Amino acid sequence: MFNALKGMLVTLSTTLRKPVTAQYPKQHLPLQERQWGFPALTWDGEVGEPYCVGCMVCVRMCPTQCMSGTMIDNPKHAEGESTRRKIIGDFEINLGRCILCGICVEVCNFDAIEMSHEHEISHYARNGRRVDLPMLLDMGVKYQQESNWIPPTKKKAAVAAAAKAAAEGGAPAAEAEAGEDTAEKESEA
Ligand code: SF4
Ligand code: SF4
Repeated sequence: MFNALKGMLVTLSTTLRKPVTAQYPKQHLPLQERQWGFPALTWDGEVGEPYCVGCMVCVRMCPTQCMSGTMIDNPKHAEGESTRRKIIGDFEINLGRCILCGICVEVCNFDAIEMSHEHEISHYARNGRRVDLPMLLDMGVKYQQESNWIPPTKKKAAVAAAAKAAAEGGAPAAEAEAGEDTAEKESEA
């Protein structure tokens, strides 16, 4: 009898409790900074062109072969406006085949691709989630703005400079670590 009452009390308390679940897709919970969505191409706002130079390393390394692209001569380089001799011409990712492994981001030497926060590109057609260069760049710009993105090579250079300054000045290693922390915070801010 006592156990039955105890059980009913548990049921009652659960019934009155606020739900912990969200009615997706009607309700969207805020995304965490670490959200790992589809890959997107980043935009170099200083020059006004993509970071991607079309080297195709990511295309070759993608385990699902869902990426394709073409490299072209960069007209801005010819006009002396950009240091990139080559630039991406076309780029396509079939997000329906992407397994979000992040290998493309790991192998890119040009800060040109990031795992964005985008996760809702659904489509009824089997191949309906092929995204082209403008859309990949839109996704990238949105991600850069949301995350206050700093190019990873700039971040690494700041950490290396802090470590070098600490070594030369005889400062304790803690200062170099502090530099690393600052760079990380800047990227997370
Ligand atoms: S995203 Fe990076 S690895 Fe892929 S083609 Fe562009 S520059 Fe090369
Ligand atoms: S995240 Fe993985 S599967 Fe998706 S495009 Fe990049 S390398 Fe290919």
